[in-house]
Amino acid sequence: MKRLGVLGWPVAHSRSPAIHNAALAELGLRDWHYQRLPVPPELLLDTTRALGASGFVGANVTIPHKQAALALADSASAAARAIGAANTLSFAAEGSIAAENTDAPGLIAALGRSPRGCRALVLGAGGSARAAVWALREAGASEVSIWNRTEQRARELAQELGARALARPEPAELLVNCTSVGLEPDPQELDALALSAAALGDYGVVVDLVYRGGRTALLEAAAAHGAATVDGLEVLVAQGALSLELWTGREAPLQVMRDAARAGA
Ligand code: NAP
Repeated sequence: MKRLGVLGWPVAHSRSPAIHNAALAELGLRDWHYQRLPVPPELLLDTTRALGASGFVGANVTIPHKQAALALADSASAAARAIGAANTLSFAAEGSIAAENTDAPGLIAALGRSPRGCRALVLGAGGSARAAVWALREAGASEVSIWNRTEQRARELAQELGARALARPEPAELLVNCTSVGLEPDPQELDALALSAAALGDYGVVVDLVYRGGRTALLEAAAAHGAATVDGLEVLVAQGALSLELWTGREAPLQVMRDAARAGA
């Protein structure tokens, strides 16, 4: 049995097992299985170090372990190092652990077209905003701006990654919500992001990393005002597909993974 999993705390809500097990079945990899790995922070290092010897080929990493996963790995890709976080670990037969970040290329893949030459606005300054800003800069966006509730954090992130911090959201061709606003349905969702529904017509494409049952108010309003939309499940599937390809060497069955992600959503 070749084992895969997702390390998180909590991780009960994760759709990754459904997405990956559907993909493994589609690829005919019957001796592979993907499971939840609920691990509290104080046990992450010892647990992760033991995974390779327990038959694990790889693991995704989610909240709150992405930075610690990078720190415990024996080697890391340039992307993971630049972002300062890993969402994908690979366990080699001899016991070493390699760290990768597929959140960044996953976001670009989910856009469906290159952001090269586009002006982009990222909302948020936490872990996923960091990956998004780095990814958009790397993919050739002509300008990346950051708005965050706590402006100082936006300034620090902008300075570090060569972006521009804004006091208020400004129109751009691409808007990416990397805050946790929208996780719970809330009538004040747009206010919390300093946006109005009408202003969403100023963005060509609106991406919301948040996913929950039903569309977020941000995506509802964006679609109503003519913007193209990409939801958090599409981004989740895209990063998962890249992780799966890394572990199995096979092309990920994207549509099967999308269907599994959306089943029951
Ligand atoms: P994080 O590091 O904790 O950052 C949270 C961000 O949200 C911060 O910028 C924070 O602003 C902002 N925020 C929180 N509550 C807010 C409120 N009430 N009003 C305005 N801003 C608020 O979290 P993260 O890891 O970046 O994740 C953010 C979201 O993206 C989560 O919902 C996560 O599930 C989702 N996500 C999805 C994917 C995917 O594949 N679809 C991948 C990664 C993350 P302050 O700095 O002011 O606190």
